Amino acid sequence: MNVMVAGGAGYIGSHAVKQLIEAGHRVVAVDNLYRGHVEAVHPEAVFCEIALADTPSLTRVLREQEIDCVMHFAALAYVGESVTDPLSYYENNTAGTVSLLQAMDAAGVKRLVFSSTCATYGEPEATPIVETMRQEPINPYGWSKWCVERVLKDYGAADRQFAYVALRYFNVAGCAADGSLGEDHDPETHLIPRLLLAALEKVDKLTIFGTDYPTPDGTCIRDYIHVEDLCAAHIVAMNALQPGDGRFYNLGIGKGYSVREVLEAAAGVTDVKIPVAYGPRRPGDPAILFANAEKIRNELGWTARYTEISEIVATAWNWLKDHPDGYGG
Ligand code: UDP
Repeated sequence: MNVMVAGGAGYIGSHAVKQLIEAGHRVVAVDNLYRGHVEAVHPEAVFCEIALADTPSLTRVLREQEIDCVMHFAALAYVGESVTDPLSYYENNTAGTVSLLQAMDAAGVKRLVFSSTCATYGEPEATPIVETMRQEPINPYGWSKWCVERVLKDYGAADRQFAYVALRYFNVAGCAADGSLGEDHDPETHLIPRLLLAALEKVDKLTIFGTDYPTPDGTCIRDYIHVEDLCAAHIVAMNALQPGDGRFYNLGIGKGYSVREVLEAAAGVTDVKIPVAYGPRRPGDPAILFANAEKIRNELGWTARYTEISEIVATAWNWLKDHPDGYGG
């Protein structure tokens, strides 16, 4: 297939480009390079520096490259930033996706794999989260993606040839097993890369946000899905799309790890006694978040191959230890 990957220079998108190429697809990576890295784009992909808002350029590329399917990862994804700057989130994540859909409509491209988020559930009714649970986001980031899911339902109802799948997940972690791609965010806020940067003495210490949660060791529990498993799920979902489909799936490893467990795994993998401080809870952090991914397993046969946190952390370390300054280093 000819696949356009929107956000193809980002952390997840660059892994998706690589996997699609390895699976024999022709890939056009589109990115505005606001937070992506052109060095992360696989050399066999066609790269186009285009913003999502630029409907005419997207339309042109979709036509010229004879794209069959769009895989869409291009998004702002910092919860805290979405609270202080909600308009950028609605502009980029919501309006940007509408622009992409308009381009697809104009070019007659009828398949979309949308990278959504479990943040659309907000404070979950229960864990593990299943797809039928109430969706009521608790921050603008979650709402900006929730809006896209709403748009997809309405557009899908209006155009019965259009097929889409929205994939919802929490914490993506790890890097390509062959060490060729990494995670390079600025600022880096995520637990696993921050632990590894602390091991490399690139940050002072890791502050654990809250030790008084109602969990066995008092720290938050999260669902860490390996980026390669995540991309594999996107490809499985893409391959399953039939005209008129509107599918929603959770992705996850089906269990959670506490912040302390992740810390222990990182200390083991790096062989460094990572300096730690104990801070207050981070606003908006629920105690336990993990998804039930039975639906995609039952319907499409996808399951996560990486379920051990130390293996997931090891793949992240594999890249970061050789690229302590990221792609620019
Ligand atoms: N966390 C932490 N210290 C950090 C970064 C994260 O204790 O420096 C905790 C955070 O409170 C959450 C978990 O690690 O419970 C995962 O956070 P991350 O920011 O990686 O992802 P999120 O869950 O916010 O999507």
